[in-house]
Amino acid sequence: MAADRTLIIGAGPAGLAAARALTEQGLPYDHVERHSDVGGLWDIDSPGTPMYESAHFISSRTMSGFPGYPMPEDYPDYPNHRQILAYLRSFAADASLTDRITFHTEVVAIEREGDGTFLVTTRSGDGAERSEEVTKYGQLIAASGVQWDPNVIEIPGYAGEIRHSVTYRDPSEFAGRRVLVVGAGNSGCDIACDAARSADHAAISMRRGYWFIPKHIFGQPVDVFAESGPTMPMWLEQAVFGRLSRVINGDPTRLGLQKPDHKLFETHPLLNDQLLHHLQHGDITARPGIASAEGTVITFTDGTTEDVDLVLLATGYRHTIPYAQSLFGDEQHPDMYLTAFARTPALYGIGFVETNSGAYVLMDMLSQMVAQHIADRTRRPDAWTAFERHVATDRPDLSGGIHFVDSPRHQGYVDAHAIQKYLRAVARRMGWTLRA
Ligand SMILES: Cc1cc2nc3c(=O)[nH]c(=O)nc-3n(C[C@H](O)[C@H](O)[C@H](O)COP(=O)(O)OP(=O)(O)OC[C@H]3O[C@@H](n4cnc5c(N)ncnc54)[C@H](O)[C@@H]3O)c2cc1C
Repeated sequence: MAADRTLIIGAGPAGLAAARALTEQGLPYDHVERHSDVGGLWDIDSPGTPMYESAHFISSRTMSGFPGYPMPEDYPDYPNHRQILAYLRSFAADASLTDRITFHTEVVAIEREGDGTFLVTTRSGDGAERSEEVTKYGQLIAASGVQWDPNVIEIPGYAGEIRHSVTYRDPSEFAGRRVLVVGAGNSGCDIACDAARSADHAAISMRRGYWFIPKHIFGQPVDVFAESGPTMPMWLEQAVFGRLSRVINGDPTRLGLQKPDHKLFETHPLLNDQLLHHLQHGDITARPGIASAEGTVITFTDGTTEDVDLVLLATGYRHTIPYAQSLFGDEQHPDMYLTAFARTPALYGIGFVETNSGAYVLMDMLSQMVAQHIADRTRRPDAWTAFERHVATDRPDLSGGIHFVDSPRHQGYVDAHAIQKYLRAVARRMGWTLRA
């Protein structure tokens, strides 16, 4: 009966993790994806993806694969986007998940019925062939990604071309142009490096100073190095890695960067050795936040100016779930217990965790917990009801003692160690098993 079934929306890494977990529990499910294949945003040909040619993983191959399915040994420390896509496609094929996905099918609306089931409207096909269907489901897992809805800012007075980095694909777009990249997340830094090499003139505007974490320490990827050492309290980790960063990178202000206004790890880690290289070689100029603009001249908060004909906004994304926003709440950061259990029963989200480590391990842990909670609904109804009470009321502190900066990007941000420890404790309490 359809109401017993679960629908998984999206076949990126989060949707695949969810599908594997439901399969392992022997639960009936349907899986839909609006694109033509598996891979989510890592498929550079998927319309609307934020992927660009120079993108690589920033967490290492060693730390980033799905548990039980490591990335290939011959991958480099930081694989490129095509390698990540190939890895995801082989994961899906080897776990027999691909054949169960209905492609070219988009969820456009979800309504919750009085009996707690969901009416899901899907749209399939194109043009005259387009058709809509409404199906009833008992459970829904939203795994539709959080990097598709660009957060666009206005620059009043600016008369040149301005667009969001979601549209950026490769450095040829910069040839013969004077480019300003706004925002210094990992994508912003990558794209600024492309501009440093390909534009007539390149600049990057950052509202605050950031810590740059080296990609390798003693020849090891930094996350492998960090995990292999002794467990340290956070204040000591901040002191040790802060000192290391200063020893390797020196004083950031000598490169025109601002001094960080926060301690190490209090913002999402920036792993980009190349931006420092290009700043050191004068290929790009670092500027603070934008104060005003007139024509093509942009004035920064320190009074300096840049005359540019292209502004690329690397200003992040809103975590919208357009087909079910009212059920999930806040558009910047949907309100979910442990980042996966919506406050509405039988509604889940995978892929919404914002953390300082590779995300796939967490996607897998959360998927296993969601699957076992769904299984409890019929197999152990008392356990299901008891857990729903936690979902409604429990709001644990998952910061691991780190005071993440107060910014939209860090709203709901969690420390990877703190959330993993908490998830294991919850699973133990519920009698659920998690892969080691
Ligand atoms: C440049 C870059 C570098 C990154 N580096 C790392 C890294 O080093 N380590 C790491 O762990 N993470 C990294 N990430 C984070 C990245 O978000 C994840 O790797 C991952 O792709 C997110 O998976 P997802 O399945 O949640 O979402 P997505 O990959 O976005 O997949 C969502 C899927 O849902 C589909 N979909 C959306 N809406 C609908 C709908 N209504 N109906 C049907 N289908 C729908 C989409 O077509 C898509 O296929 C990086 C991201 C970027 C952009």
